[in-house]
This record gives sequence, structure tokens and C-alpha cells, in this order.
Amino acid sequence: MFSFKKNYNLFGKITLSIIKPDAVEKGYSISILSKIIDAGFHIIALKMMELSKKSAFIFYEEHKEKYFFDSLIEFMSSGPIISSILKKENAVKDFRILIGDTNPINAKKGTIRNLYATSLEKNAIHGSDSNKNAFKECQFFFPIEKFYYK
Ligand code: GDP
Repeated sequence: MFSFKKNYNLFGKITLSIIKPDAVEKGYSISILSKIIDAGFHIIALKMMELSKKSAFIFYEEHKEKYFFDSLIEFMSSGPIISSILKKENAVKDFRILIGDTNPINAKKGTIRNLYATSLEKNAIHGSDSNKNAFKECQFFFPIEKFYYK
């Protein structure tokens, strides 16, 4: 597993990114990854995959009482996604700035959601919201012993 113990020196320096099915389908993946790299993030793990409904449910479980939960699960399991672990000082905070507000209407000009999102739900990209959740989410997508990074 991707554990605190074995990767303690990455705490505070990593975040999980998911290019969501809407953006992958529209062919924005490479443009988005380029923007991420240009912003100074190192991609230390990357994979293209499809989420099962069950996995999407577990990943977004904290939202299970929300009115949009069923639709969100349907959407996130509707096609390929690209998940990655990004490394940078202040990764979580800086990545949230790079992706912009959850609602693309409110996302600042030039942010990923401003450029590539379709709607509040189909908002192109996910970024962890805290260092603790970043580790949890990285472990969820990349349950491996240890990996190499620069
Ligand atoms: P995030 O951390 O910016 O991704 O936002 P949240 O954790 O609050 O929500 C998770 C995801 O649920 C968002 O990225 C959207 O895809 C979706 N979402 C959030 N709020 C709404 C909403 O009010 N309606 C719908 N349909 N989807 C939403």
C-alpha cells in the first residue's frame, strides 16, 4: 500500500489529480497534462483507467447524502479517466489554484476548469482538498509499496 510510513517524506508535497471522463472524451488530456507540467508539477505516477460504479462510490462516499451523488457516480464511471500523483511543494494548495473553482462559472480565467469544464458536475478535473485526503486518494488509485520520484 502507498503508506504514510514508507512515503512520509512526501507528506505535504503530493496531490491526486483525475482528468474526468468529459475532458478525456473531448481530447483535452494532453493539453491539461501540459498545463500541469508547465505549472511545475512532477508527474510521479500516471494511469488511464475506467472506474467501476463501486469504486466511484467509495471515492466520493463523503458526498453520498448530496442530491447530485447518483449522477456524479454515473458520470465518473461513464468512460476513461486519467489519474495521477503530482509532486510539488504545496502541491494540494497550488493544484487547487491551477484547477479553479468547483463551478466553472466561478473559475478564474486561465484555470483548467475555466478552460475545459462543461458544467458544475462535468468540471474536467479533480484535485485533492487536503494533505491528508491527498495521501488517502493516492493510496486508493496507486496501492503500491513504494515508487521512485525526483
Ligand atoms: P471539488 O473538490 O472542487 O471537486 O468539489 P466537491 O468535493 O465539492 O464535489 C465533488 C464533485 O462533485 C465536483 O468536482 C463536481 O464534479 C460534483 N459536484 C459538486 N457540487 C455539485 C452540484 O451542486 N451539482 C452537481 N451536479 N455536481 C456537483
